[in-house]
Amino acid sequence: RPGLAARLDGLPASATIEMARRARELRAAGHKVISLALGEPDFPTPPAAIEAAHAAALAGDTKYPPVDGTPALKAAVARKFARENGLDYAPDELIVSNGGKQIIFNAFMATIDPGDEVVVPAPYWVSYPLIARMLGGVPVHPVCDESDGFSLRADRLAQALTPRTKWLVLNFPNNPSGGVCTEEELRAIASVLRDFPNVWILSDEIYEHLVFDNRRFTSFAAVAPDLRDRILTMNGVAKAYAMTGWRVGYAGGPRDLIAAMRTVQGNATSGVCTVAQAAAAAALDGPEDLIGVMRATYAKRRKAVVEALRAIPGITCAMPSGAFYAYPGVEGCLGKTTPDGHVIATDADFALALLDRAHVATVPGSAFGLSPYLRLSCATGDAELEEACRRIAGFVASLR
Ligand code: PLP
Repeated sequence: RPGLAARLDGLPASATIEMARRARELRAAGHKVISLALGEPDFPTPPAAIEAAHAAALAGDTKYPPVDGTPALKAAVARKFARENGLDYAPDELIVSNGGKQIIFNAFMATIDPGDEVVVPAPYWVSYPLIARMLGGVPVHPVCDESDGFSLRADRLAQALTPRTKWLVLNFPNNPSGGVCTEEELRAIASVLRDFPNVWILSDEIYEHLVFDNRRFTSFAAVAPDLRDRILTMNGVAKAYAMTGWRVGYAGGPRDLIAAMRTVQGNATSGVCTVAQAAAAAALDGPEDLIGVMRATYAKRRKAVVEALRAIPGITCAMPSGAFYAYPGVEGCLGKTTPDGHVIATDADFALALLDRAHVATVPGSAFGLSPYLRLSCATGDAELEEACRRIAGFVASLR
């Protein structure tokens, strides 16, 4: 039989997807499974975005779009970057892709040669190291400690950078930890990067609107304008506007990098679905109150979940500063045994046993490069979150 490409050798399957698969199996067997495994807002897409998609389709906006985005969406993206981030990008410094994920793929495909190092602070969203590895890149993971609020310390970054570093990925607010870097911390990061002129910087700002407790979000490119010609600022409509299924992400960056990404995308997928682009433009230009409602809802749920988890002996939980996840520590449960005799040696054992015995789906911290933790998505209804915490408490109480 023909074989598969060597570039896929040793790539782990996504743990998030594996947990979702097991949850589906249990559901099919008739169990009431609560899934806190997926990072997907439980709000509907704004009606104005849906209406714009409908109108675009009826108006004949149904032909091949330009590879790098429709002029209307790129104009809306430019307005958004100027209004919300204080960043000015010309049309040829912008690209629209099939979700934020394709922005990352395009950027890495356009720049990574085998052996290039990609610094991805842990814990991290799994796609960065997996995409880097598919392209022959070598992920390097400095750790963002819970005791630092899961933000990236400049000294940790400095230790991770080498002459072979091609990219640094910054993702604050962070998936999975909810960590947010202050402006001062970003300044310290920028100052380290000034000594490494050959490093591109990806700032994934997809959770920018979800910062809590009167914290303020700042774009990395706004903190370090002198590094502008190597910063790719990435965002999308998935999390901000509950539009995960529309598949629209976008980025602003230096002209030559954007042009190279356009070449990659032109040969892979071409431009993004026209009606999805019309919907995204309407969302970006639309009323901002929806974002405020979502932020307030996630903030409230986060507090309730963290308090419920902290009340469980053996579980610790930092209060996340942003995004919509809780990242509780389960160290106090390691070494214990479930009633049916399974030893909980790792966070992955904990997550699997919790799913099998209490029917709550989460993702173990090992999937994100920092153990022993669990990631719980708070983009789930209040009653389900409450019930999930009750089940986790019951599960932990059953351990011996
Ligand atoms: N960046 C981070 C940190 C994410 O968590 C996600 C989605 O989970 C994305 C990017 C990708 O978003 P999209 O759905 O636009 O591809």
